[in-house]
Amino acid sequence: MEEVEVLEKHGVKKRALISILCFLIAIILGMILSYFYVPKISLHGNRVIIVDINSKYVDKGCEATYQGKSISKDVKMTGNVDTTKPGTYKIVYTVKKGVYEKKATRTVIVQDMDKPTIELTGKEESYVCPNKTYQEEGYKAIDNYDGDITDQVVVTNKDDKVIYSVKDSSGNETVAERRIIYKDIEAPVITLIGSQTETIEVGTKYKELGYGAIDNCDDYLTDSVKVSNNIDINKPGTYEVKYEVTDKSNNKTTITRKVHIVEKATKGVIYLTFDDGPKQGTTNVILDILKEEGVTATFFVTNSGPDNLIVREYNEGHTVALHTASHNYKTVYTSVEGYFADLDKVKNRVKRLIGKEVHIIRFPGGSSNTISRKYNKGIMTTLTKEVQNRGYYYFDWNVDSEDAGGTKTASGVYKNVTKSLSKKRANVVLMHDIKPYTRDALRDIIHYGKENGYVFKSITEDTPMVTHRVNN
Ligand SMILES: [Zn+2]
Repeated sequence: MEEVEVLEKHGVKKRALISILCFLIAIILGMILSYFYVPKISLHGNRVIIVDINSKYVDKGCEATYQGKSISKDVKMTGNVDTTKPGTYKIVYTVKKGVYEKKATRTVIVQDMDKPTIELTGKEESYVCPNKTYQEEGYKAIDNYDGDITDQVVVTNKDDKVIYSVKDSSGNETVAERRIIYKDIEAPVITLIGSQTETIEVGTKYKELGYGAIDNCDDYLTDSVKVSNNIDINKPGTYEVKYEVTDKSNNKTTITRKVHIVEKATKGVIYLTFDDGPKQGTTNVILDILKEEGVTATFFVTNSGPDNLIVREYNEGHTVALHTASHNYKTVYTSVEGYFADLDKVKNRVKRLIGKEVHIIRFPGGSSNTISRKYNKGIMTTLTKEVQNRGYYYFDWNVDSEDAGGTKTASGVYKNVTKSLSKKRANVVLMHDIKPYTRDALRDIIHYGKENGYVFKSITEDTPMVTHRVNN
C-alpha cells in the first residue's frame, strides 16, 4: 500500500511538471508566433493628449510593423476630435494582417483652459461722495466658450472693495476688483447770472446780477459763495468781482466777473476813427493834418502798410486799435478760432511796434455786418460776447462817412459826416485812412466840428462802447 501511494505521489508530481512545461512551451511558441504573425502598433506622441478648446488638433499618427516591416499605411483610424466642444474623445488605430488584428487607442481631452474676462465700466478706483453709497457702474463678463456670462457674475463687497467673480462652464474662474474711495474730489461749480463782463458808467452803483453754486456731493451751495470785489465806481477801469466757494471736502472754486467802469458818454464829442490802414500817401497826410489841428483820433489798423506809420500814430497821441490782420471776411468769419488767430496776428504786430497789448477792436464790417452769415451763420452773436470775455472792447460807429460805400468825393464825405453829427450824444465817425477823398475832406470836417462847439477825442478802454445791433 505504501509503495503504491508513493508511486502515485510520484505520478502526480510528474504530471504537474509536464503540464507546467507544456504551458511554458505554449507561451514561448505564442511569443514566437506573435512576434512573427501578429502586427504591432506604437503611437507617435502621448496616449493621452489635452487640447485647448477651439485650437486645432492634429493627430500625430502611429507606426505599425509586421515581421519587422512597416505596414503603417494599412492602419485604419476611427473616431474624431471636435475641438469646438469640451469632452473626451477616443481615436482607435486598427491594423489587420491575416487572422491577426491589433488595436491601439489614444485619448484626446478637449478642455476650455481659458479664463473668462471681466470688464468694468468706469474706473478701477471709483470716487464716491462720503455721504453717498456706491452705485454700481456696471461690468461685462465674456468667456471664449460660453460667450456673454455677465449674468453669472457674483458681486460681493469686502472692506472698501467691490469684488466681481465669475466661472465659465469648465470651472475657470476670474476675479476683478474695484476700489471704492469715499472722498469728494470734485470742486463745486459756480454759474453767473448775467454776462461775464459788465459795463457800467462811472458813478453808477454796481448791482450784483446773481449767481448759483452746486456741488456733486453737497448739492446746493449758493448760500456759501463768498463775493468780493475791488470796484471803485468813481474811477474808470476794469475791475473784478470774485466768487469763491468751498465744499465740505475743501475743494475750492473761484470765478470772476469783469466790471468795466467807463466814462460818462460825453455829449458833443467827436471820435474820428480810421479803418483799414495804414497806407503811405493817405495815412501820413491824415497824421499831418491831425497834428496841425491838434486833434487826436483812433486808427483800427490791419497788417497792411508800413510799420513806421503805426509808430507815428502812437507817438503822436492817437489810439492804435485792431481791425484784424487780413480783413478777409472768409478768414475771420468762418470760425471763432479763425477770427482770434487773425486778430492775434495784428495784435502782435502792434505790440512789436508800440510795446503794448491793445484791447480796443473793430470788427471788419462792424458787429452788424451781414456778410459773415455767408461763412458762419450766427458767428457775430458768439464773437461779440467772446471778445468781451477775452478782455476786448469793440466799437462800431454812429456816424458813417460812407467812404467805403458809394461816396467817392471829398465833398461827399464832408456832407455825410457833418449832416449826421449830433450834440446830444458822443459821435463815433467811421472813416477809412486809405481813401484819398477822406484824406482831402478831413481838414474841413475838423473845422466844422470846432466851429460848432464839438470836442475831438480818441477812444480809450474807458470810453463807453458804441455798438450796433448784431444782425446775423
Ligand atoms: Zn474795414
